[in-house]
Amino acid sequence: MRGLAIALLAALAAKGAFAQRNFESEINAALESAKTAAGFEFTGTLARICLLPQSGGEDTSDRLPAYIADPSKVPPRDTWYAEPAKVFDNLYFVGGKIHSSWALTTREGIILFDTIYPYNSEELIVGGMKKLGLDPKTIKYVLISHAHGDHIGGAEMLQTRYGVRVVMGGPDWDAVARHPNRYKTMAPKRDIVATDGMKITLGELTVTIWLTPGHTPGTMSYTFTVLDRGKPVNVAYSGGTAFNFVNNTPDPGIRNFQTYIDSQKHMAEKAAAVGATVLLSNHSEFDNAYNKNRMLAGRGDGPHPYELGSDMVQRYFRVMQGCARAAQITLEQRVAESKR
Ligand SMILES: [Zn+2]
Repeated sequence: MRGLAIALLAALAAKGAFAQRNFESEINAALESAKTAAGFEFTGTLARICLLPQSGGEDTSDRLPAYIADPSKVPPRDTWYAEPAKVFDNLYFVGGKIHSSWALTTREGIILFDTIYPYNSEELIVGGMKKLGLDPKTIKYVLISHAHGDHIGGAEMLQTRYGVRVVMGGPDWDAVARHPNRYKTMAPKRDIVATDGMKITLGELTVTIWLTPGHTPGTMSYTFTVLDRGKPVNVAYSGGTAFNFVNNTPDPGIRNFQTYIDSQKHMAEKAAAVGATVLLSNHSEFDNAYNKNRMLAGRGDGPHPYELGSDMVQRYFRVMQGCARAAQITLEQRVAESKR
C-alpha cells in the first residue's frame, strides 16, 4: 500500500502536478499589493514601475547626450523650471519640475543631494540657492544617488568651481570612467566611494548612506534628520526607482529584479529603524515634491505636507517591491513555459 502511494506521488511529481504555478494569479497578487500600498500618495511611482512599459535594459553605449551635442536640443525652460523652496528649517529644494536637488544646511556648510542636468544645474542649484539666501560656496559634499545625466549633470561644475567632495557608489564611479562621451561635462574626478552604512557628518548633522543597487549597480539611498519648526523629523531618501537594468530576458533579469527587491527591503528596514516619516526622492513623480512645495505655502498651522507618517513611508517600499515582483514573475513564467 505504502509502495503504491510513493509510486503515485512520484508519477504526479514527474508530471509537474505539484510544480504547477498559477502565474497570472501570482502577478495579479503582486500588482494588487503594490496598488494597495500606493494608495493616493504614490500613484506616480505605481504608474511608472507597475503600468508603463519598462526600458528593456541598461544603456551601455558611450554616446554624447543630445543636449550636450546640440544646445538647441536642451528642453525649453518652461518644461523644467521650478521655484526653489525652503522645505524644512534646514532642507531646501533647489531642483526642477521633474528632477530634484536638495540642500541640507548645517553650521559647517551644506550637503547637496543630486545635481540635475548640466543645462539647468547652474540656474536651479546655484541660482536657486542664491535666491534662498544660501551661499553655493559653502557646499561641502555632493551626494550623487546614481550616475544618470538627470542627477550627475552638475557634479563636475560644482566640484571644479567650489572644490566640493563628491560621494557616489563604486560601480557608478566606474560607469563614469568607462563612458567619457556619455558623461561629457558631467564627470567629477573620482572622489569618495560610498559603502553601506557610511556616515557623512558635517557640523551637527549626519547623513547615513545605504547601498540600494537595482536602478543602477551603485545606487545610494539615505537616512537623515531634518527640523520642522525645531522638531526633529526623520527622512528616508530613495535614490533610484525605474527598472532600467536588463529586465527583458530571464537571465539576468530575474537576478536583477531580486537585487532591486532586496535593496527595497534593506531600505525599508533602515527607514523603520530611524522612524522615518518623510519619503524623499530625486524625481517629483515619486515624492510629489513639486506639488508639495506649492502646498507648503498655504500650510499655516497645519501638518507639514511632506510628513506622511512611518506607515506610509513603509508603503513606498512595498510599491517598489510589488511592481518588481510582478515583473520578475513574468520572467519566471517565461522560463517555465520554455521548459514545457
Ligand atoms: Zn536614473
